Amino acid sequence: MQPDASSAGADPARRPVTGLKGAGPALTARLAARGIATLQDLWLHLPLRYEDRTRLTPIRALRHGESAQVLGRIEAVERSFRGRPMLRVAVGDESGASLVLRFFHFHAAQLRALSVGTRILCHGEARGGHFGVEMVHPGYRVLADDVELALGDRLDPVYPAIEGVGPVQLARLVSAALDQLPESDALELLPASAFGDLTLPRWRDAVRFLHRPPPGVDLAELAQFRHPAQQRLALEELLAHQLSLRRQRLSMKRQGALALEARGALARRLAAALPFRLTAAQRRVLHEIAEDLSRSEPMLRLVQGDVGSGKTIVAAFAALAAIESGAQVALMAPTELLAEQHAQAFAAWFEPLGIEAVWLSGKVKGKARAAALARIAAGAPLVIGTHALLQEPVAFARLALVIVDEQHRFGVHQRLVLRDKGADGRQVPHQLVMTATPIPRTLAMTAYADLDVSVIDELPPGRTPVQTVAIDALRRDELIERIRAALSQGRQAYWVCTLIEESEEPSAPGAVKIEAQAAQTAHELLTEQLPGVRVGLVHGRMKPAEKQAAMAAFKAGDIQLLVATTVIEVGVDVPNASLMLVENAERLGLAQLHQLRGRVGRGAQASTCVLMYRSPLSQAARERLAVMRETSDGFRIAEKDLELRGPGELLGTRQTGLAGFRIADPMRDAALLPQVQHAADALLARAPHVADRLIERWIGQAVRYAEA
Ligand code: ADP
Ligand code: MG
Repeated sequence: MQPDASSAGADPARRPVTGLKGAGPALTARLAARGIATLQDLWLHLPLRYEDRTRLTPIRALRHGESAQVLGRIEAVERSFRGRPMLRVAVGDESGASLVLRFFHFHAAQLRALSVGTRILCHGEARGGHFGVEMVHPGYRVLADDVELALGDRLDPVYPAIEGVGPVQLARLVSAALDQLPESDALELLPASAFGDLTLPRWRDAVRFLHRPPPGVDLAELAQFRHPAQQRLALEELLAHQLSLRRQRLSMKRQGALALEARGALARRLAAALPFRLTAAQRRVLHEIAEDLSRSEPMLRLVQGDVGSGKTIVAAFAALAAIESGAQVALMAPTELLAEQHAQAFAAWFEPLGIEAVWLSGKVKGKARAAALARIAAGAPLVIGTHALLQEPVAFARLALVIVDEQHRFGVHQRLVLRDKGADGRQVPHQLVMTATPIPRTLAMTAYADLDVSVIDELPPGRTPVQTVAIDALRRDELIERIRAALSQGRQAYWVCTLIEESEEPSAPGAVKIEAQAAQTAHELLTEQLPGVRVGLVHGRMKPAEKQAAMAAFKAGDIQLLVATTVIEVGVDVPNASLMLVENAERLGLAQLHQLRGRVGRGAQASTCVLMYRSPLSQAARERLAVMRETSDGFRIAEKDLELRGPGELLGTRQTGLAGFRIADPMRDAALLPQVQHAADALLARAPHVADRLIERWIGQAVRYAEA
């Protein structure tokens, strides 16, 4: 039956999932929790990858790292409980070779079904293990001897999991939704001109193709997201995000803001008290900010400046302008440690001016929290803290300026929450976003389409560039001697422990724990190897007070060597620290290495950064280390990063702060960005209603979800 495209209610894209067979209230609720409400949402629930069950691979032909399907018979079953339960099942086939399936979780029923002699069809990634070829937790099916094996006739899509919905059920739902994809062009939102020179398939064809790729398609191309169908949808998604950011910018601007009229008396007093003069770049950026603040439409400005370029003091002057006009300022940082550093820096600058900051983080509880909230509500001029500042019960009296440091750690949409926090609830605060994450220009235009950009393109004078060396971790003893020598000359050093488990996301709680353990171990070892040296420790699992105490002792010079995790990656500023050693540097991405290295080279002394690695190095790791040795220019590093980040390089969206994409990855798809800009301009000028539909299609749900 063809839907009637003339009435909105019949728009197939907007049909609710409840119309699908088997979509009862419980299932619908689980889908809704993931932002899936309509058929279109299901069409855009795109596969993460594909499994090829269209053919069998003889065990003898299995290759390490490749996914394959095998049909064989169980030859042996072995259970063991050393450490944790494990089940090993040996399977042989007609090729005469055998394969071990390994399971770490299994049910009794599973165990009963897997008896010697049983015919089994399994699918998984082959790995060369200790005992020959293995598959860990493969998918499998036991086949009775008289069952005829029917191979699939197309690739099986593997969908991003949805809590409470089984993979088979999910695949069935998506398939049912796809059956209702209209044949017509009703779904095509983009004119061919939006693609420029690119030849890309139509929307409907791209969606169908990605859910149901024909057998024989180039799986490697799909895995690298280079297929035209993927590019087609990625381009459209990037475009939708671009349009959405520009729309949000317009709507913010329309809401209005307090025009701040500062006479500059406080600023003059602060400038006089500083031990340095602002650089020309800092002054230029401050001028741009002051211009913005004096207007009655909200500032939406990003200050980009390499690590160590002096963004904090720029933020301080901006804050003074607002405070002098009688308004409130909120300063937020992504980590407790960084927020705490800012609180100290601002205290030193502002207390002589009679301005005291209120401290607020998620860890401030009970009476202290109530007191902080009361002061904020009463109009305290400056509030410093973490994301907790964004939370609902924090009500400001006259919030006029919000400063967000190290923006890349915040989600793009998160800052929009601030919209409702402005003075008298109608106006929005001016927003100043600061980041060191050097991202290439095209990418910045996409990520920050809602912001004006100022660049601090000059480092304070007198800095000597950090000398960077890469050293094999086997030469640790030699390094210990060098540290001893440096410390005995009054220098201070960081020893940075990084994640060694590749499987963990750097911000996952498990990863924080592993990092913390590595740091504890390193701390013990170094304390033993460097007798007489005062060694300190700071990691993400310590209590805030303990972290503060360690940082304060390091700043005061009471600690000579600070063993730390990547919690010190952003914002930490101890100018006397001039030596940094980074463990497992080969595992880190360029952006992170650059941030870490930025902790040294802040004083007048010559600084050194030692990147320790374990051999053998992959080609990509070798190149990253080479880039770090060659340059300290954040923008050069960012470009190199983009160039080097091939598929499979794990860096994540943490860098760009662009979460929530379904198919696009602005880093990976950077080549599409100029065309995206172009198409966005054209659409906004000529077909704004199409922009609305694109935004609804791609992020309508996601935005609501982020603001929830
Ligand atoms: P980042 O841009 O990485 O946030 P910071 O604001 O932490 O850099 O500044 C790095 C260091 O440089 C701090 O110790 C700061 O006091 C100092 N600094 C900032 N501006 C200047 C300047 N114009 N001259 C000398 N030192 C400066
Ligand atoms: Mg900073």
